[in-house]
Amino acid sequence: MSFVEELRQGLEKTRKNFTERMEDLVGISVDLDEDFMDELEMILVAGDVGIKTTEKIMQALRKAAATREIKSPAEALPFIKQYIADMLTVKGPRMNFKGHPTIVLVVGVNGVGKTTTIGKLANYYRLMGYKVMCAAADTFRAGAVEQLKIWGEKAQVPVISHGDIGADPAAVVYDGVKAAMARHIDVLFVDTAGRLHNKTNLMKELDKMYRVIRKEVPDGPHETLLVLDATTGQNAITQAKIFLETAHVTGVVLTKLDGTAKGGVVVAIKEELVLDVKWIGIGEGMMDFRPFDPKVFVDALFDR
Ligand code: GDP
Repeated sequence: MSFVEELRQGLEKTRKNFTERMEDLVGISVDLDEDFMDELEMILVAGDVGIKTTEKIMQALRKAAATREIKSPAEALPFIKQYIADMLTVKGPRMNFKGHPTIVLVVGVNGVGKTTTIGKLANYYRLMGYKVMCAAADTFRAGAVEQLKIWGEKAQVPVISHGDIGADPAAVVYDGVKAAMARHIDVLFVDTAGRLHNKTNLMKELDKMYRVIRKEVPDGPHETLLVLDATTGQNAITQAKIFLETAHVTGVVLTKLDGTAKGGVVVAIKEELVLDVKWIGIGEGMMDFRPFDPKVFVDALFDR
């Protein structure tokens, strides 16, 4: 199966909920009238694009209709596709490889797929020829350390850890950074705990990690990737806002796009959080992972 086919398959539920409903609407609509606009608006909101973002898209569409740039419902769909693709353009680098080592902090609520994402990222960059290491600093969730070690074996990268539950995460980070420096590692991925129910703790813990890292590598961490679970739709946006208050997030990894009809949340993340989705997860396996490419994504979502 080709790269695009796999992505298309992963996005099937979103495509059904989103694009196919739009196509059905276009099929039964004759004019670009208010009924058409209202229905389209409802489909966008139901597709988890977010209310603010939907309004923006609708405004652009109404303007294009008023200026006769688009003249029929059939022309609305390619217009929306292009508009969303433009909205999703990724501005910064995918990974800021400036450090020696480059340190990547991976944050997010428990269960969103942080550990899995680190396994996938570690494998991806090892295959690209980088020397990769991981630090198991999620010492809060039972089994997280063991799980990362298993991913480390699968991805053939070393994992620095202390005991399991209760070990000091900052101490794990310190050992990870030291080991990465000693072994001339290119990129160190740091797993963290996501206890969002206590924002003060989360903030304290992240602050401590940043301090430990900066003492050894002053310009680190070079990336802080926020992992969000697409199946939670608009809740992912709410979660993200809390992390944005506490961490210096540089990009988003959106997981579980394969199991959800809420893939439209990609657009809301970009517009409402002003964050680039840099990676997407489309399954539980090592290879079910893609650098996010707006053009490929939008094609997979819209094209039959
Ligand atoms: P963490 O608590 O944030 O570290 O989350 P985990 O990495 O343990 O992942 C939680 C669950 O989500 C696991 O069962 C993973 O296999 C699953 N998972 C992670 N990413 C994806 C994805 O892209 N697609 C699917 N379907 N499941 C995923």
